Amino acid sequence: MNVRFWGTRGSLAKPGPTTLRYGGNTPCVEVRGADGTLIVLDCGTGAHGLGQFLISSATSPRNGHLMITHTHWDHIQGVPFFAPLFVAGNTWDIYAPSALGQELERTLAGQMEYEYFPVTLAQLAATTRYHDLREGRFAVGAVRVITQYLNHPALALGYRLESGGAVIVYATDHEPHAPNPAARRDGEPPMHSEDRRHVEFLSGADLIIHDAQYTLEEYPQKTGWGHSPAEWVVDYAVAARARRLALFHHDPLRSDDALDRLVERCRERSRAAGSQLQIFAATEGEEVCLLERDADRPGAEKPPGRAVTTGPLTILVADDEPAIVQVLAATLQRDGFRVVTANDGTTALDRARSERPALILLDWHMPGANGIEVTQALRRDSDPVVRDVPVVLITAETGAEHTAAGFRAGVTDYLTKPFRPAHVRARVQAWLQRRRNEASPRP
Ligand SMILES: [Zn+2]
Ligand SMILES: [Zn+2]
Repeated sequence: MNVRFWGTRGSLAKPGPTTLRYGGNTPCVEVRGADGTLIVLDCGTGAHGLGQFLISSATSPRNGHLMITHTHWDHIQGVPFFAPLFVAGNTWDIYAPSALGQELERTLAGQMEYEYFPVTLAQLAATTRYHDLREGRFAVGAVRVITQYLNHPALALGYRLESGGAVIVYATDHEPHAPNPAARRDGEPPMHSEDRRHVEFLSGADLIIHDAQYTLEEYPQKTGWGHSPAEWVVDYAVAARARRLALFHHDPLRSDDALDRLVERCRERSRAAGSQLQIFAATEGEEVCLLERDADRPGAEKPPGRAVTTGPLTILVADDEPAIVQVLAATLQRDGFRVVTANDGTTALDRARSERPALILLDWHMPGANGIEVTQALRRDSDPVVRDVPVVLITAETGAEHTAAGFRAGVTDYLTKPFRPAHVRARVQAWLQRRRNEASPRP
């Protein structure tokens, strides 16, 4: 597979004297599979350059696959300026994670409404096909694609691309799940099961393109914003035994010189861990060629279809602090969920059994029975719906021993106080979507 970076900056395009070397355009990465299949990862402002290149090159394929991590501006602003979409006869498949009840096509059309842009999405001359994705796997040409949710204040997917034995993982706009740096000593493997899952997603990659917006120093002020400190990304890539790591989604305030220093610090950290990992900062215009190790050719599996939407799902929120119940209920109701509440552990258990919710958000410290005891009782219940319900523990404790105790009791994940509503919305979508995936046969 071959990779070329067209946009490497995060959050906001930042052209100018401080970003000349690494580039100022927002995320867009071109990938060519073993058979020439064209995949474009994200469609930030870098997509303008890629689009011009594709239509001016006589050998460019007329068809491509645009895979979007999430629909924050910096990842879709290039769509109205991506020239291949304006050429009749071209066919483009466009993929992005779908939140329950919200379709990709409608979201993309939103930024091209009359108030924002003179051309509507419906006026694109190319044939476009939209695919609302969940976690799962499918193939495009000779490229096997595996998707997994990232940790971000919007529902976001990472893409693992495997072709001809080479592996690329694109995981941007992701924050470690164990949020408190003090909860983990340097060099320790991640304790949180979601972080371990993330490392598995990265495992054995020839190239990881990863969010590295912050430094470890900056991170405590940016916790919950959905981005990673570069030093921790090194730890994950080392644990995943990856060959190369491209730091990506550079902060708009990070100058070229500061980025040089960050790369050097990351290399020292990797060397200190005894790793051979090659680390560089993704650079606009740079090309990386990955050797094909064998001629693996997956069959032409179909991409998964649109997610099926059903009536409102019930979520149980149990917390003895009324303010927290109120914030969570308001946030979830805005996304169309039916919310039932409880203020103590005993009531939470009763409501779980009578309402059989799709998800439970449970405070750790509550009168009656605490979150751990409620979870243990749920896991022993005779009703399989109650027994298998995802349980998310709400807590201010982020120490490793607390997390481990929760996971042993059967907790699915943690929501750390203080939390932001945008983050809760994204995580709730991920927990529910993953559960639907487990319940239905994988494509
Ligand atoms: Zn971003
Ligand atoms: Zn984002």
